[in-house]
Amino acid sequence: MPSPTTPAPTTAPPPARRRAPRSLRNVIGGELVDGVRTFDKVDPVDGALVAVVHEAGPAQVDRAVAAARGALDGPWGRTTVAERARLLRRVADLIDARSEELVAAEVGDTGKPETLARDLDVARAAANFRSAADTVSAAGLDAYLTELHDGRRALNYAVRAPLGVVAVIVPWNLPLLLLTWKLAPALAAGNAVVVKPSEETPSSAMLLAEILADAGIPDGVVNVVHGFGPGSAGEHLTTHPGIDGVTFTGESSTGSAIMRAVAPRVRPVSFELGGKNAAVVFADADLDAAIAGLARSTYLNTGQVCLCTERIYVERAVFDDVAAGLAEHARRLRLGRPEDPATTTGPLISVAHREKVLRHYDLALHEGAELLAGGGVPTLGDGLDAGSWIEPTLWAGLDNSHRTVREEIFGPAAVVIPFDSEEEAVALANDTDYGLAAVTWTGDLARGHRVAQRMRVGMSWVNTWYLRDLRSPFGGIGLSGIGREGGPHSLGFYTEPTNVCVQL
Ligand code: NAD
Repeated sequence: MPSPTTPAPTTAPPPARRRAPRSLRNVIGGELVDGVRTFDKVDPVDGALVAVVHEAGPAQVDRAVAAARGALDGPWGRTTVAERARLLRRVADLIDARSEELVAAEVGDTGKPETLARDLDVARAAANFRSAADTVSAAGLDAYLTELHDGRRALNYAVRAPLGVVAVIVPWNLPLLLLTWKLAPALAAGNAVVVKPSEETPSSAMLLAEILADAGIPDGVVNVVHGFGPGSAGEHLTTHPGIDGVTFTGESSTGSAIMRAVAPRVRPVSFELGGKNAAVVFADADLDAAIAGLARSTYLNTGQVCLCTERIYVERAVFDDVAAGLAEHARRLRLGRPEDPATTTGPLISVAHREKVLRHYDLALHEGAELLAGGGVPTLGDGLDAGSWIEPTLWAGLDNSHRTVREEIFGPAAVVIPFDSEEEAVALANDTDYGLAAVTWTGDLARGHRVAQRMRVGMSWVNTWYLRDLRSPFGGIGLSGIGREGGPHSLGFYTEPTNVCVQL
């Protein structure tokens, strides 16, 4: 039998998408600006050079913050909600018009299947802009008059102004989706921003900067600086005295470092951080739907979605069926080139990240896990073996006392664990330092509501996963974050209220 993770047999291998490596500079005040040095961005599919990226030093970050401040003091600071909503809708239309370029940029940086980049990342980027335009339009008045208390002796009302210069720092897993999720509401509320994309995924932010300019967003409103975290653009930005707040998506430990960085100047933060998300499967669930749903929530984007399931609690009566069904799904996933329509699963983002995930694979076995699927590095041939490929993996035989069940892996791997009662399932799911997302699979609607409401998480799904209404609150509890973004919740972070009290 061929290895389950060999590329899908296709009539003829599709031609590899390969473009000449690009040089990516910082975007500051509408100009392309060199960095202090450059670094290479390689393709995780096969290790080929994708781009040479200019790393911003303190001087470039300083210029970017000054450009943003200047934009706030200029015509952008006097735009109306209606004008900004119109600009954001134009951005969304241009994203649609240039979607294939954005797909190519996202695929070149991440190696994810083209279909995924098209249907998830790029489609959501346009939707993020439209949703922010709708939200800010619904908020109505230009000053967002949010409350009015007409007392006998005084009239109190609160007006909202933009937060100011916002640092937007994002990770590599869904680069454009997560950047626009923060950028669109920040602009809708009238802020100016300095964006720092991940060092692993600098490309789509550059195309987006072009699109923003073409849509008519003035120079300096959105600046892009490239580089790493500590000792690089990320740290220069978060320690800069000119920023008024930080919105960040990434690892919990990085969130903690950013909190320390902004602490001396007490800046507000909005954090969307890591997860160790649970799924709970009751015996009364539609098992085929549950297994297919678990396969998606565990292995989508090679497990590199903050919402991915890494702990699966299954009622004992159906444990063997669910474990076997999910292992079968894991073995059927097709690793391969992004442009091949048969490909379901791309590589991990980098060889360095694969090293980290493989350490978890070793740890699981060391802790006594039973391997149900995957567990190693596949041999794919076809020039792919210099990439950062890994096998989709499933373990049993562990419980909540094991590190494998407690630490975020951020790869295509999960543990299945049996339970005997609803009470036990809830307790096991909530036994974590994280609190991002959970899924409950059940055929009993009352139980679905009951269990979903008891999950200590920001997002609790029933019989589905990653179904999103962009107006609803998104964020995490505990190590998974601070604050909520989405619709009016985003405007709460990206604006500052001032209460006005007039004696009558
Ligand atoms: P990361 O924290 O390593 O990096 C994220 C960004 O922060 C990058 O741009 C990086 O350069 C920058 N950065 C790193 N250290 C910094 C510092 N000291 N100061 C300023 N900036 C710094 O995260 P990652 O590896 O890129 O992404 C994976 C993580 O993101 C996972 O933990 C995942 O769960 C989390 N994530 C969370 C959500 C969510 O919505 N909750 C969404 C996606 C990813």
